[in-house]
Amino acid sequence: MAAAISEAWIRKGGIVYGAVFMRPFDFQHIRCTTKEELVRLRGSKYVQSSIAGIYKQIEADLKNGLEILFIGTSCQIATIRNRFKEYDSWLYTVDVICHGTPKVETLKASIPKSVLQMDYDNVEFRENCDYKIAFKKAGETIWSSPLTHNLYMKGFFKALFNRECCYKCMFAKPERISDMTLGDFWGLDMARVNTTMDKGISLVLVNSNKGRKLLEMVKDDIEMIARPLEEAIVGNAPLRHPMPRTWRYHIYKKLYPKVGFRLAAIAAMPDIILKNLFK
Ligand SMILES: Cc1cc2nc3c(=O)[nH]c(=O)nc-3n(C[C@H](O)[C@H](O)[C@H](O)COP(=O)(O)OP(=O)(O)OC[C@H]3O[C@@H](n4cnc5c(N)ncnc54)[C@H](O)[C@@H]3O)c2cc1C
Repeated sequence: MAAAISEAWIRKGGIVYGAVFMRPFDFQHIRCTTKEELVRLRGSKYVQSSIAGIYKQIEADLKNGLEILFIGTSCQIATIRNRFKEYDSWLYTVDVICHGTPKVETLKASIPKSVLQMDYDNVEFRENCDYKIAFKKAGETIWSSPLTHNLYMKGFFKALFNRECCYKCMFAKPERISDMTLGDFWGLDMARVNTTMDKGISLVLVNSNKGRKLLEMVKDDIEMIARPLEEAIVGNAPLRHPMPRTWRYHIYKKLYPKVGFRLAAIAAMPDIILKNLFK
């Protein structure tokens, strides 16, 4: 869905800002003006993306009367909207539902040193509904670790090592700060929808007139079914509240400085790891 909207936006002469992987090992928002540049935006990066480097570019674009589409987490959108209040009519925002973003250092600590030294140009986290960490070179996978084996991905889904502010996230509620919200439609009642698709169905919340315009732009490129808002809210915890600090979080936090990522993550998720071993 993010790709469809971004491509339509570029076709009509707009600028897109979104998150990409950057060598040597970082995740940042960048400015895109062509369809080719948008390819790097594709796919969720399950880690914090820095927006510090793009303020000047956004300001210049807005001053030049260019329309901007910013895709990021709600907290990033709050920052951008607050900073560029006077240009609100030119600034369109799409947030991805977010249950927390770990620091890049946590992700890095979870990757074997030998892998970090490889010659890669991209790091990916999912292919449709297949979650993993994959290091890529020219589109080819050179190292990959599936969710069943990967402690970072398991810990990410259990909100084990989010940034502290994420546990108090003020944007984790049904009222959204963006023009449009994108997520995975976890709560979708498949028995009640008439579609040939059975997985990888996006959730789209239209939050403003600008959001409606974004949906209008892509309506012929997508299969769209209207569903009750409640269905989305019930199925997706970050639409109701921030992820809580569980016993897993406390164990990980206490142990990490003493024993490092791997042992701290194992101690925080012994039941999940055993379950996967038996599977
Ligand atoms: C940290 C994180 C946690 C998430 N948690 C949930 C969840 O609990 N429930 C749920 O339904 N969905 C969650 N999502 C959203 C989900 O993974 C998809 O991104 C969303 O469904 C949109 O899918 P898509 O295929 O349209 O776009 P995708 O191809 O997945 O996303 C591309 C767009 O997302 C933006 N993006 C990707 N990673 C980041 C990042 N780290 N920071 C800021 N912007 C980013 C890029 O700018 C790009 O434009 C999460 C996403 C992230 C990044």
